[in-house]
Order: sequence, then C-alpha cells, then structure tokens
Amino acid sequence: MRLSSFFTTSSVSSAFLVASFVSSASAQDRTTETAEAAITNGTAECVAYWYPPVSEAAYNFPTNWQPASILSNDTAANAKYNSISSQIPNIAPKGTQPASLEGNFSGLSYSSSDPDCWWTYDQCTTPKVAGLKPDMAGVSEPDTLGYGFDDGPNCSHNAFYDYLQDNNQKATMFYIGSNVMNWPLEAQRALTDGHEICVHTWSHRYMTSLTNEQAFAELYYSMQMIKLVVGVTPTCWRPPFGDVDDRIRWIANALGLKTIIWQYDSNDWKAGIDGITDQDVDDNYMNLIARAQNGTFSTSGTIMLTHELNNFTMSEAVKFYDQLKSAFKYLVPMGVANNQTQPYVETNYSLPTFEAYVSGTTVVTGGTPQSNSSGSTSGSTSGSTSSLGSSGNSTTKPSSGAVSQVVFSKAGALAATMAFLGGVTRVLA
Ligand SMILES: [Zn+2]
Repeated sequence: MRLSSFFTTSSVSSAFLVASFVSSASAQDRTTETAEAAITNGTAECVAYWYPPVSEAAYNFPTNWQPASILSNDTAANAKYNSISSQIPNIAPKGTQPASLEGNFSGLSYSSSDPDCWWTYDQCTTPKVAGLKPDMAGVSEPDTLGYGFDDGPNCSHNAFYDYLQDNNQKATMFYIGSNVMNWPLEAQRALTDGHEICVHTWSHRYMTSLTNEQAFAELYYSMQMIKLVVGVTPTCWRPPFGDVDDRIRWIANALGLKTIIWQYDSNDWKAGIDGITDQDVDDNYMNLIARAQNGTFSTSGTIMLTHELNNFTMSEAVKFYDQLKSAFKYLVPMGVANNQTQPYVETNYSLPTFEAYVSGTTVVTGGTPQSNSSGSTSGSTSGSTSSLGSSGNSTTKPSSGAVSQVVFSKAGALAATMAFLGGVTRVLA
C-alpha cells in the first residue's frame, strides 16, 4: 500500500500513521513493484536488490553501462541485424571513439550543408534520406506540452512518481536500458502508473559516434530489457543529447522506433556543469511558461527536455508543475499527443486518445499490461552478488545516487513540497 494513501485518509490517527510509516519503511520489501513503490526513504530506495528474472537473463545482454554490441551467440539479434545491415545509409560514424562516445567530435570535418541531417550540428529534424519521417520535436495539438522525462528509472523516483499520481498526470518516460536492468521494479512502476515508456539507449552514449552494429545493439537490447522487465516493447526512442543523424534514424526506424526530440531544453541535467546554474534552469522553465501564456503555442504545442536524472531535476519538475499546467491547457504523454493508442508492439495495452485524456480518462480501462511483478524474488538487499542493482553510475553517465529521504503526500502537499525541495541533494557536480 502506498504511504500516501494513509495520509489521504483523514480519519486515520496520527499514531497509526507513525506506526504504519515505521513498519513500511523498515520492512523494505524489494520483491514486487507495489512494495518497491511504497518505499518512501530515498536512500532505502537506492539500496541494491536482487531480481531473478533479470539476473537469470543477464548473460543475454551487453555489459551494464558499456557501449552495447551484438552478442555473438544471440541468434535473433544477429538475424535481425543481418536482415537490415546492407540497407543502412552509407554514413560514417561521427568522430573517433572513444572521445566521440562522449560527444567530443573535434577534428571531424563535416559539410555545412548538413548532408546527414545531424541534429547535433544544426538541430535538423527533417531527414534527407528517403523514407524517414521527420522527428517528433513538438506536438500538433494547440496549447499542449508533450510531457516527458529522460534518463530513468531513477532508483529514488517514488516521491516524484507519487506526485504525478496524486495529480493524475501521465508522462512519457525515456528509460535507459542499463537503468531498467538495475532498477526493474522502478521501471515496472511507470507502466503500472499509466506512464508511457520509450527507449533512451543502453549506455547513453552519443549515438552518431557508434558503428552500425553498436547503434543497433544500443536500441535492440534496451527494447529487449524493457520487454523482459515490464512486459512491453516500446515503439519510440529519444537520442541521448539529441545526437541523431539519418544513419541512426534509419536503424531506429528499422527497429520500429519513432524518434522524439524537443524544441526547448530546460538544461536541468546540466545544472552545475558548464556554468549552468539552478537559476538558469528556473529561467528556462519560466521562459517556456511565459511563451505559453503569450500565445506562442496557440496553433501547435511543443516539447521541453526534462529529466528524472536526479533529485534536483525531479524537484524542478514538481516546482513548476502547477505553472506549466495553467500556462498550457494540456500536459500529455507523447503518444497521447499523437493519438497513438497502441504505444507498444504488444496489443494488450492501450493509451487513451488525446480527446479522452483531456476529458479525464488518463488511463484506458481494460488495458492492463502484463507485468512480471509476480515473479518470485529473493528480496535480498545485498548488492554484492552481481553487478545488478548497483546504481549503475559511472563518471560519464546520468547519476541516480543517494538522495535525502523524501516523503510526499497529498494531504500535506505544501509542506511535503518544501521538504522535498529542501532535501535536494546535488548528484551532478
Ligand atoms: Zn539522457
């Protein structure tokens, strides 16, 4: 049971609340999505746990957080790659690895005519290779914000997801395959809560720097991991750093993935880096809100890049939620904005239409996904038995490290918000 559900019951005595909290916090059941979602201590959430469905299949996946490549004994992956490889546009990987993996393209000679529609070069979103659709960078519905968050699942996201749930707000979650592997129960929560899940690659590298096979593997194994853990196969993806060109688009398209970019960048992920301050991030939010208020999106809506990367980025989302909600008429997941009622390859899960969503039907009844949460688990909180369950961080990857305890509730929204914001722990430095 969600802790917040206690708080919304006014008849419950405070003594019972305390007892329930202690009981809930100390039990630390790490075996099901429901139990994991009930943990309210951010530090406890980020303690590694053992999840057999993932650990037993780990040998079928690339090394966590390392640039992916196709496993030599993976018959299905090799067959799929071989079926498309000869048709991949003849565009060379950008730059030279390993520097290019991290976005260092120094020394690269590239035509100013942007022959590859390289987003990193000039934010191109209209492919030049025939047969590729334009990237989704905005939304066609007026006064609408395509609402989504990159880099999850963050192990400490319960307070944030509780907040979204309390507001009956759904979003598109762009999940990193390695994070899904490390935090499977957190990944399951997205679907349980009615959010949409898209792919955000396996190791979060600059995709245009990768070989064809690496780029394929980054997407393919992320899809496979989400399928294993959550039970659905996404049909959308977002390139880390927006780094995509027609070669990468083509590979994604061959895997059934629609490319989603953005038009505004909150730069929340960059706070503390390259001179970007917290105030800059606030200003970016406020500028978007001001544009929405002055009618900029009266004929078509937009998308802003935001993250569940760390406590700061999540607290910013909470901080500006009400203002975004009032400045835009609608905040909806990308699939809802597109009226894409079947967001996954599997047909047993549906999203509402845009009209249904904005009329209050944010979840389609009968669209219950097949979850793996019933799988048996040991519940061990030891992280020493394998690489699984670590926070999956490295110096160059999005971090989701320890955070302050966060308690959210509907009843004490203001106090909880203040506690949440006051408890921000900067992960990026
Ligand atoms: Zn990212």
